Amino acid sequence: MTTDLIQLPVAVVTGGARGIGLAIARWFLAHGHRVALLDIDQETLRRTDAALADAGRVLSIHCDVSQPDQVDAAVNQVAGHFGRIDALVNNAGVAVFKPIAQVSFEDWRHVMSTNLDGAFLCTQACAPVMLRTGGGAVVNIASISGLRASTLRVAYGTSKGALIHLTKQQAVELGNVGIRVNCVAPGPVDTEMAKLVHSVAIRSDYYDAIPLNRYGTTEEIAEVVGFLCSPAAGYVNGQVLAADGGFDAAG
Ligand code: NDP
Repeated sequence: MTTDLIQLPVAVVTGGARGIGLAIARWFLAHGHRVALLDIDQETLRRTDAALADAGRVLSIHCDVSQPDQVDAAVNQVAGHFGRIDALVNNAGVAVFKPIAQVSFEDWRHVMSTNLDGAFLCTQACAPVMLRTGGGAVVNIASISGLRASTLRVAYGTSKGALIHLTKQQAVELGNVGIRVNCVAPGPVDTEMAKLVHSVAIRSDYYDAIPLNRYGTTEEIAEVVGFLCSPAAGYVNGQVLAADGGFDAAG
């Protein structure tokens, strides 16, 4: 790696192969970072890595964030390759939208282990690396479903509500040592996940309930995440920033 590249800060983005995670990775690349993409979807990860085509600035790692040994190995690989970690975005997530009676224990564990365990494990693994170079910033990607309960989202909404509280716990403890932790709660964004779980009825409900009358874009979420990781947000810690077109405010 050239000395120029070694100076650049490093962002780790989980679930970075596509959707909101990919837009966040592109934001970091456009703002002078090196980026490590951690994702379970190996084929998309390979295509994304090739599409980003940014020699020396992108490291793609196959990693299931719900598995402690895979997270430790991936973070060690990032630290070994890039030498530092300045930002972590816990974006990897899965959604199961079903009535309570139809949610199996496997569904429940799948959602909790990805959305909640993943953020816990990745932050725990990245924090010591961040501290070697004086600290950093973590952003957890929650959801408006973590702020407000609605039908079909017993597992998803609970995982995101817990992620919001995890953010506050992490902010209190890690803020003391120089790592800011914040949370973004996106409203609906048209990604593969939304295609999977947003029925026509859910889409129509969102259009009615969102004052801006539209879905958000992946780039709009990435801008908010980028701000929270930047020095401009240097005194922001333990906050939940809703990027939802006014959904939560409308109540
Ligand atoms: P996508 O499903 O489009 O992308 C998520 C990526 O994460 C996929 O590549 C997926 O791989 C990967 N992933 C899933 N499980 C794991 C895992 N265990 N370890 C590593 N990677 C994994 O989702 P979005 O871009 O829509 O969502 C990104 C985040 O934003 C999620 O946390 C989601 O809950 C949140 N969000 C999304 C909203 C939306 O409307 N889209 C609204 C509010 C919040 P694979 O394809 O194999 O599953």
